[in-house]
Amino acid sequence: MEKRIPLFIANWKMNKTSKDILSFVGVFKELVKGMTHSCEIVLAPAAVYLAELISVTQNTLIKVAAQNCGGSKSGAFTGEVSPLMLRDLQVAWVILGHSERRHIFKEDDSLVNLKLKAALEEDLTPVFCVGEKLEERKAKNTFAVIERQLEGLKSFSESQLRSLVIAYEPVWAIGTGENASPEQAQEVHSFIRKWLSNNISPTFANRTRILYGGSVKADNSTALMVMVDVDGLLVGGASLDPLSFSEIVRQGLNS
Ligand code: PEP
Repeated sequence: MEKRIPLFIANWKMNKTSKDILSFVGVFKELVKGMTHSCEIVLAPAAVYLAELISVTQNTLIKVAAQNCGGSKSGAFTGEVSPLMLRDLQVAWVILGHSERRHIFKEDDSLVNLKLKAALEEDLTPVFCVGEKLEERKAKNTFAVIERQLEGLKSFSESQLRSLVIAYEPVWAIGTGENASPEQAQEVHSFIRKWLSNNISPTFANRTRILYGGSVKADNSTALMVMVDVDGLLVGGASLDPLSFSEIVRQGLNS
């Protein structure tokens, strides 16, 4: 079985300006120096700071992701940033279908799938987010919702999807301080891996990383990462501080 390299992603959302980013990286790169060989660490700033972050992380193993992208190479899409533009800036990763994009900005499955197609065409590594709302969990619809969100993956070949990362982020756990228990995360991660095995291929399922996101902190990172199908963490609030995010990575690698 191929080893799945642990992956830790900081989603800064609409936070941090240039000065904050410079001071974060100055401190963070020293804190994670000894860890970047045993995992991948990715920082996702607001789009306007991508070029700057690429430049200040140049001589490190820290990688950079966009938080979103448009669904075409170019065209009349005011306010959008295309995957071609991300590639041009040497941004290799993109988060897609984050719950805030799905629920605040009303991105539906077909739009998220269009963005995925456009991102894959530019050879970006997509971090494809899925997750159920609280009422959906309460109604025992978690698996049905995840299955619906994954459905679009069937329209791609295994080789097109080769770099795909999936992030399970229960909407009720994002920014609420209430993380899914390690067992709840494992149950859904295992469901996703089985789905990938049945619908793409067993080899693909074995090597694809599935991240957990939702109120991750240093004190729950080991317990989540211990789970056999949790391959990494997507972190919002607790990634804004370099000490806190580096501690999440350190504790996660201690699992
Ligand atoms: C996120 O934004 O992807 C996230 C998981 O946020 P938080 O860690 O703040 O819950």
